[in-house]
Amino acid sequence: MTQAVLLPRVETFQAKLVEAHDVTPRVREFVFERLDGAPFTFKSGQWVSLVLPLLDARDRPLRRSYSLASVPGDSSRFELLITRVDDGAASAWLHQAPPGTVLDVKGPQGTFARDLDAGPSLFVATGTGVAPFRGFVHDALKAGRTEPLWVLFGVRTVDDALYLREFEALQQQHAYVRFIPTLSRANDAWAGRTGYVQKHVLELWNELSLHGTPHVYICGVKKMLTEVRELLKTHAGLERHQLHLESYD
Ligand SMILES: Cc1cc2nc3c(=O)[nH]c(=O)nc-3n(C[C@H](O)[C@H](O)[C@H](O)COP(=O)(O)OP(=O)(O)OC[C@H]3O[C@@H](n4cnc5c(N)ncnc54)[C@H](O)[C@@H]3O)c2cc1C
Repeated sequence: MTQAVLLPRVETFQAKLVEAHDVTPRVREFVFERLDGAPFTFKSGQWVSLVLPLLDARDRPLRRSYSLASVPGDSSRFELLITRVDDGAASAWLHQAPPGTVLDVKGPQGTFARDLDAGPSLFVATGTGVAPFRGFVHDALKAGRTEPLWVLFGVRTVDDALYLREFEALQQQHAYVRFIPTLSRANDAWAGRTGYVQKHVLELWNELSLHGTPHVYICGVKKMLTEVRELLKTHAGLERHQLHLESYD
């Protein structure tokens, strides 16, 4: 007999924008707070849907998903990082929303997660896709884990490197945290890696494999996700259970 699987009901609540500021030329950080003051409980890697006072092509309220960028805790506040997309209906509206704006929020949602005992982990992100990895790294450190946690982060320029100082500081403090930014439009002053994440992923995966059976977590646009996955499957024998994906489009 087939058993029905009951998925937990997703909560809808109202949240007020309490703070917003640009963190890179195209990304704005938003701090929302639940209007009812209740703690907002979520797991790193999950996301929320924002319901905007705009209509979509089918005359329904426009909804968009955003990864939670804050580290889980007891707070009624949560942070989102939102890229201003060219001709993007929701992102353009959100980038000009003033503090005090109240929105309906559905969440937390999603199953992109990392078990604390997952072992050596390679996190591959472009742009705001790095948001879930901030939580994954902090969760592991808080739990006293010491497996290698390597963040391969692709952005255009150094000004686009979200959490640059935070990840660099974590790397200094913890030998097993490695932060590897790579710039697709580097200037001459940049001494680090250049090009897309695809250029570096195999080398890092092979090196990480020396520490045990690794897992890869990939977050961002589908084109990058697919290319990284295919590289690892074709050239490094990546197996399904080692692969964790979150697509933004
Ligand atoms: C699970 C999940 C989590 C997400 N988390 C985040 C997040 O943390 N931060 C974030 O900024 N976005 C995130 N997104 C993407 C976000 O939901 C929207 O798709 C994005 O903000 C664009 O919406 P828009 O209405 O502004 O653009 P639209 O009006 O929907 O699209 C306008 C144009 O931009 C293109 N486009 C759409 N999305 C993107 C994109 N991401 N990059 C480049 N071009 C795009 C479209 O193809 C279209 O041509 C996430 C998506 C998913 C599914």
